[in-house]
Amino acid sequence: MTYQVTPIHAFRDNYIWCITRKDTNECIIVDPGDASPVIAYCEQNNKKICAILITHHHADHIGGVSGLVHSQYMVSNATIYGPEETPCSHINHRCREGEQIDIPPLNITLSILEVPGHTMDHIAYYNQDWLFCGDTLFSCGCGRLFEGTPEIMFHSLRKIHALDDNTQVFCAHEYTQSNIDFALTIEPNNTALQQYANHVKRLRENQQETLPSTIGLEKDVNPFLRWHDAQLKENLSRHWQCEVSDDIETLAMTRRWKDTF
Ligand SMILES: [Zn+2]
Repeated sequence: MTYQVTPIHAFRDNYIWCITRKDTNECIIVDPGDASPVIAYCEQNNKKICAILITHHHADHIGGVSGLVHSQYMVSNATIYGPEETPCSHINHRCREGEQIDIPPLNITLSILEVPGHTMDHIAYYNQDWLFCGDTLFSCGCGRLFEGTPEIMFHSLRKIHALDDNTQVFCAHEYTQSNIDFALTIEPNNTALQQYANHVKRLRENQQETLPSTIGLEKDVNPFLRWHDAQLKENLSRHWQCEVSDDIETLAMTRRWKDTF
């Protein structure tokens, strides 16, 4: 069974991920902020949508749901998965932490992680191979804390940190290049990060996506998953001219630095 996960570009830097399998024309769409590029994709590739996965309530993630539901590209019994609290009346399956959802047309099972912080309703979908994390984690970055505290985000990122290193990470935005500029400022001596910066620079020069990333790579290069690192703590302490020793404080101070970068 060969699956493919394809980015559909939307707005300036959003990715709407589309999961397909060779032997069926049905597909799964993740976070459709805009219906039109998804409809164009379905038209060009002869696809019908059997499920939509929503990670959180921001318009650039759910804005296209209504247009898709009312289009000819949805199968009649399609399931719209989403968080418990997201105000979207099209969601017909509300997901909770630890739940497993089965999407039979593609024979896919995904588990749910509640990952509040960027927003309080935020969830992620994952299995052994994939993580669809919306705006919680970006390559070399994390989502802004619009609704949660650093402590809440820390517990969410810790769940992601615990996933298998080989899990591919499908973030909802192409922010990698600018995130690396910040990461290199806060961790200038991280050699894995320096190598990744060169790799990403080449990809972007050729207009290629930098995603998916992997959990293993992010643990090496993403300062928002490196709260345990002594050198990072030291760099933060120097920047903020105070003692940063606690892991949650490390994440908080990293996020605060990024917010003003
Ligand atoms: Zn968002």
